[in-house]
Amino acid sequence: NDLLLEVKDVCVDYQAASGAVHAVDHVSFTLRRGEIMGLAGESGSGKSTVAYAIARLTRPPAVVTDGEIFYYPHARDHRSRGFLSRKQRAEEAAGAALDAVDILDLTNEQLRAFRWNELAIVFQSAMNALNPVMKVGDQILDVLKTHRPDLTKHARKEHAAELLKLVGIAPDRLNSYPHELSGGMRQRAVIAIALALNPELIIMDEPTTALDVVVQREILDLVKSLCRELGMAMIFITHDLSLLLELTDNIAIMYAGRLVETAAALDIYHHPRHPYSHGLLNSFPTLRGPRRKMVGIPGSPPDLRQVPPGCPFQQRCPMAFSACKTIRPTLRPASASAPGQLAACHLYDPHYRAEPPTAQDLT
Ligand code: SF4
Ligand code: MG
Repeated sequence: NDLLLEVKDVCVDYQAASGAVHAVDHVSFTLRRGEIMGLAGESGSGKSTVAYAIARLTRPPAVVTDGEIFYYPHARDHRSRGFLSRKQRAEEAAGAALDAVDILDLTNEQLRAFRWNELAIVFQSAMNALNPVMKVGDQILDVLKTHRPDLTKHARKEHAAELLKLVGIAPDRLNSYPHELSGGMRQRAVIAIALALNPELIIMDEPTTALDVVVQREILDLVKSLCRELGMAMIFITHDLSLLLELTDNIAIMYAGRLVETAAALDIYHHPRHPYSHGLLNSFPTLRGPRRKMVGIPGSPPDLRQVPPGCPFQQRCPMAFSACKTIRPTLRPASASAPGQLAACHLYDPHYRAEPPTAQDLT
């Protein structure tokens, strides 16, 4: 079983005076070990909120109101197992296969062990996450001192230098302060810290947005090769779908708190099925490969306090028809040639439409 993460029907509400706002509305997806997944969508679509829920970092007024987030522990792994309950550790010691743990049910103590050891997260504007008055090397050593007390001082120093080397920073930079490094180098240092405990999953939330295109490219190439080299899975979050096409295995696209399409990156690239994905793809020039015409999507996402009944994309959709006004579409297979490609759109429901739309139809 190479399943690593199973997000099931997760809902996150923002409690407001006027009532609850559904920031994340019944989102489900799975991630395999070593898989690189992209989560795309405009700002406010709920993609960061999903990441927060997975890391159990949601704070009021945001509250996870429903769903499960199953994490499948690696049986062959010898790192700290503190996130497992005593019963589970006993079972594992007895040679039993481990059940999944629901991240939403972990105690605070289990959660501390889970973060860093299993899951690392690199936030938006992570370059500024470094402590400005502390040498980069000391910041890595700090993490190791806290979470790997089993290592000797010497071993920690060696490990810190290795981590910097892994992200392409010369070990003599251990003695540099953050302001002495370029934006790209600071970003690399943050990634080195995230990798310090060899996590199984890394979540990156718009980590390169503040960097120029060439440096973005370098960072993306780096994180991809690190994932492949270390066998680490990644969820990469960005508003820029074109970045994901080159970086990821699979892509999930969010709109107004819901998933509207999930598919292999190549299938999205060649045949986006949801009208929103189609529009999003045409809004961004790709960094490599043929340039696409930038047409964009007229209009803006609905106010989450007043999402209309039916399809949340209806006001902007060139293909909308009567059912879209009243009936909420759910994810369903949208391609005969790509069985894994799902879209939440009535156009792919034979009940409404005998033939699925062609690319021409969607423009
Ligand atoms: Fe457009 Fe209707 Fe499909 Fe929504 S369900 S994306 S409004 S065609
Ligand atoms: Mg965000």
